[in-house]
Amino acid sequence: MRGAILHTLGQDLTVETLEPLPPGPRDVIVEVGASSICHTDLSLRNGMFPAMFSGAMIGGHECAGTVVEVGDNVTRVSVGDRVVATFRPACGTCPSCLRDRSHLCTAIGGLMQRPRAKRADGSHAAAMSGIGTFSDVVTCDEASVVRVESSLPDSHLALLGCGMTTGVGAALFTAGVEPGSTVAVVGCGGVGQSVIQGASVAGAARIIAVDPVASKRELAQTLGATDTIDPTTEAADVQVRDLLHGNGVDYAFDVVGVAKIVASTYRMIDRGGMLVLVGYGPMDSEFRVPAFDLQSQEKIVKGCVAGSAQVRRHLQLFIDLIESGRLNTGALVSQEVALDDINVAMQAMLSGEVIRSVVTSFG
Ligand SMILES: [Zn+2]
Ligand SMILES: [Zn+2]
Repeated sequence: MRGAILHTLGQDLTVETLEPLPPGPRDVIVEVGASSICHTDLSLRNGMFPAMFSGAMIGGHECAGTVVEVGDNVTRVSVGDRVVATFRPACGTCPSCLRDRSHLCTAIGGLMQRPRAKRADGSHAAAMSGIGTFSDVVTCDEASVVRVESSLPDSHLALLGCGMTTGVGAALFTAGVEPGSTVAVVGCGGVGQSVIQGASVAGAARIIAVDPVASKRELAQTLGATDTIDPTTEAADVQVRDLLHGNGVDYAFDVVGVAKIVASTYRMIDRGGMLVLVGYGPMDSEFRVPAFDLQSQEKIVKGCVAGSAQVRRHLQLFIDLIESGRLNTGALVSQEVALDDINVAMQAMLSGEVIRSVVTSFG
């Protein structure tokens, strides 16, 4: 197998020939058709989440492919099934999964640490999010894969492993956007564009896309945004209130994670409104909320992981919405790349011109 290894925080990944470690009885082996590059891959590499890195690991956390082998105790998938590997497992038996909160599944900690491949020097590599998708083969716990039925290519399905599910789910499930409501989305990368699409499916009357990059604002308008704002011209929250005749929005989604921007996004919400924190900031970042305003205006500040989606039923719902043309995955796939170009592709995301690069060639 070949895989891209993150061996030192702050440094490029290295593409290496690896020897897969033998699978356990609950493990599945997936031949990867496509693996998408998410902004979190870059953040992890740059050291924003030091607690997630305990030594060499295969990078990547969203992919689609085909099951080629299953352990003796695997019950959810069979050889030949098409699957999406998700960055949050859904074990089905932990307290969170039993309460219909599989996005908060507690199995993740143990799976992240498990060694999955041997490197040329004999040392072991773990797998990011327990899956490590920057590889032609993924060995993971069956909790991390979801069987899907679809005619879509793997390059589109891969986005359901993290970005698209997080964004669409943030609108539909974390916030519960209602028909006729007003929405602002701050940060229009792959996840932000998916929030816009989710809010559109939910029937929001106004969807305001906020991003400094013109091409992202233009794309947002093709995916359901009714208005766009360039935050570099004037404070974004001031512009939002100008658009709404002095009112705030019912739902504001922060898909950036920078404290100063989060504070501005909070100021966008109306009385009774909700701020949803979708973007990851550094693990030690904090932001201040004006307590009297929060209490007296009955505002809500809510976290969001994996779009609060229950992947075992919602991934197929998302696929049905994509296949019927109500969600657009193709618009988010900017380019297909080879595994050997992984570092170039990760860097291209920073420029803002690339929404998603998808690795489809591993040779
Ligand atoms: Zn991601
Ligand atoms: Zn669980």
